[in-house]
Amino acid sequence: LGGSITRALQQMSNATVIDEKVLNDCLNEINRALLQSDVQFELVRDMRTNIKKIVNLQDLAAGHNKRKIIQQAVFNELCKMLDPGKSSFVPKKGKTSVVMFVGLQGSGKTTTCTKYAHYYQKKGWKPALVCADTFRAGAFDQLKQNATKAKTPFYGSYMESDPVKIAVEGVERFKEENRDLIIVDTSGRHKQEAALFEEMRQVSEATNPDLVIFVMDSSIGQAAFDQAQAFKQSVAVGAVIITKMDGHAKGGGSLSAVAATKSPVIFIGTGEHMDEFEVFEVKPFVSRLLGMGDLSGFVDKIHDIVPMDKQPELLQKLSEGFTLRIMYEQFQNMLSMGPMSQVLSMLPGFSSELMPKGQEKESQAKVKRYMTIMDSMTNEELDSSNPKLINESRMMRIARGSGRLVREVLDMMEEYKRLAKLWSKMKGLKIPKKGDMSAL
Ligand code: GDP
Ligand code: MG
Repeated sequence: LGGSITRALQQMSNATVIDEKVLNDCLNEINRALLQSDVQFELVRDMRTNIKKIVNLQDLAAGHNKRKIIQQAVFNELCKMLDPGKSSFVPKKGKTSVVMFVGLQGSGKTTTCTKYAHYYQKKGWKPALVCADTFRAGAFDQLKQNATKAKTPFYGSYMESDPVKIAVEGVERFKEENRDLIIVDTSGRHKQEAALFEEMRQVSEATNPDLVIFVMDSSIGQAAFDQAQAFKQSVAVGAVIITKMDGHAKGGGSLSAVAATKSPVIFIGTGEHMDEFEVFEVKPFVSRLLGMGDLSGFVDKIHDIVPMDKQPELLQKLSEGFTLRIMYEQFQNMLSMGPMSQVLSMLPGFSSELMPKGQEKESQAKVKRYMTIMDSMTNEELDSSNPKLINESRMMRIARGSGRLVREVLDMMEEYKRLAKLWSKMKGLKIPKKGDMSAL
């Protein structure tokens, strides 16, 4: 896909006269690529119309960087399509919120409920899970297992067959227990769709959720729009989560889900594990959709920030395995805002979680705390790129040595694993000469 877009743009740059035909050919190629990524036909058509309004042929004829103009226009247009113009309900810590999950069977609801609970629990919330799926045998067992793993309270029943009754009981119980995020998992059968939607309507009416999240499998292809719309028509969907983004699907269905529900995508699922869950970020997502790679902005930044003679050093560093010692050095850099940390802060997901805007003070304290913890590690521990080395007894020793809690050592290790994953994406990264997009 990325190849075909790059090719389309390249063909264009080879043409000496930029006339309407060349622009059309180029847009045709991009459209084909988007359709292959499961972007809905109608949306592709609208985008094309808009691009033709935006891209001024005269500008193109005069401008040097034609590829960039078109690519930027397509990029911006796709970003706009992912923005429904309003943000979704944001739960408040310490105040009770009820969040209901809906979606077809197999879309990843139960898995995502746990990820969502775990995500907030890590931030100090008190979530709880309610299993209102009485349709599928084993649904309660699955939720119970997930919840136990996440150490999250749960509610459900093996006997009761009325999902509305269980949902109401669970929500009430957890309200009494002052849980601040009550998550209701529901069923999502394949057949009997009318019955499913009626059930969703009833559960929603009875529990009165603050937010309904529609969970969608990224690999469902062109079915996305109709599916999202069907749920939106029976319950007040207010946000979308796209799952299985670790697979082959580029996730073009997200555009359909946003269009059909008029709600934003808030998270994506990137694996079966509890931690494989990311805050949705529009720009990296669109880069991926266009096959430009998450790293295209990053590569540009390397040119802007890192002096030419330092670039080989940077590449050498990136090719090494990510150790705790490297993390320590990066934190040091970050506190002094050295060039490397400026580069890393460009990476999608690097600083948005570690140093969220508006929380610089708390974040700095956290980074310093992590460094204190690492000061109590042995060289062996610091130089290993295998997180399993830091077992329970080592964690306890490190916590004692640094005067911090085991919980905080655990937090730091989670951060390490997250950064190691980003780091591995950059491994083997080739930095093309400035302006040479084809290498991407
Ligand atoms: P539900 O029927 O909607 O509740 O879906 P489940 O939560 O039971 O998930 C169905 C299957 O998809 C399970 O095997 C999950 O492990 C898997 N799954 C869910 N989310 C993801 C994801 O983000 N990536 C991958 N690879 N698998 C996922
Ligand atoms: Mg389920």
